[in-house]
Amino acid sequence: VKRAKASGATQTYQPQAFAIVREQFGIETALRRAVDDQRLRLCFQPIHDLATGQLVSFEALARWTDDQGRTITPTRFIPVAEESGLIVPLGRWALAAAADTLAEWDRAQGGDCGIRMAVNLSAIQLQRDQVPAAVEQALAAAGVSPSRFTLELTESAIVTDPDRIATTMRQLKDLGTTLAMDDFGTGYSNLSYLQKLPIDILKMDRSFVTGMLADRDKIAIVRAILSLAQALGKRTTAEGIETVELAQTLAAMGCDYGQGYAYARPLEASDALTLLASRTSAATASAI
Ligand code: C2E
Ligand code: MG
Ligand code: MG
Ligand code: MG
Repeated sequence: VKRAKASGATQTYQPQAFAIVREQFGIETALRRAVDDQRLRLCFQPIHDLATGQLVSFEALARWTDDQGRTITPTRFIPVAEESGLIVPLGRWALAAAADTLAEWDRAQGGDCGIRMAVNLSAIQLQRDQVPAAVEQALAAAGVSPSRFTLELTESAIVTDPDRIATTMRQLKDLGTTLAMDDFGTGYSNLSYLQKLPIDILKMDRSFVTGMLADRDKIAIVRAILSLAQALGKRTTAEGIETVELAQTLAAMGCDYGQGYAYARPLEASDALTLLASRTSAATASAI
């Protein structure tokens, strides 16, 4: 009693901590149900070739609509999924759903629709699950080639367990997938991993990209990442491109791919297919 009185912080801190735990528990229970009942879905955000403007890929982004019909963003539920271990079934679900969707688009287009798919892998998922086997299974079940998949990893996956991740990444490469380092530049990690690990693409975090035209420091960071990637023979993607001017600037700077609201927000699967189909018919029309 004396101690609680002596420190006012204790009194205010405890109920707050309790509320956080309770909220976390509530989300966890609801998320567990959402995973079980297939109440999650994927949205798909276009990724364009910056030089040609062509649509080349979609990134699959998880969405959760709760019982009240509210959309809960992945920045809130992925951490909960990671802490609770739900990231393993959620991660497997995302791989299967992305593969099934790509197979569906192929069928709608009467053959390989010529688009790639990028799926995010969490560091915890990589630690706890047999990810290469899960990837192989999901893609085989859907009947789509691993060569059409990019897997996005974050630097935290490397920091946690470098030996295990090296083996996992090698296995994923052997399957034929492309590997991208997501949120590149935000991870506090030793860059020497770039020499050792089979990374194909550096995906620059949007904190450097969005708003870089008004910020010399951000431009300097982006330029440094692009020249590092070029020297190491890696391709680059910029996320968070919100204006056409920014897309043009990044293209001129030699960035390979771009993603952001200037092109499109993450789309429902049906809208992504519409976009894909309009692109295909435009290409066919110009070929005739
Ligand atoms: P991320 O992989 O870096 O994905 C890019 C995020 O940036 C997405 O947020 C996307 O909607 C957002 N974004 C794209 N372009 C713009 C733009 O021009 N402006 C702004 N302001 N934002 C833009 P989202 O969908 O909320 O996802 C957040 C993060 O959640 C993702 O970041 C990824 O780390 C994680 N995530 C999403 N789906 C999955 C999943 O299925 N598995 C795992 N492990 N993580 C996922
Ligand atoms: Mg990503
Ligand atoms: Mg990213
Ligand atoms: Mg990001």
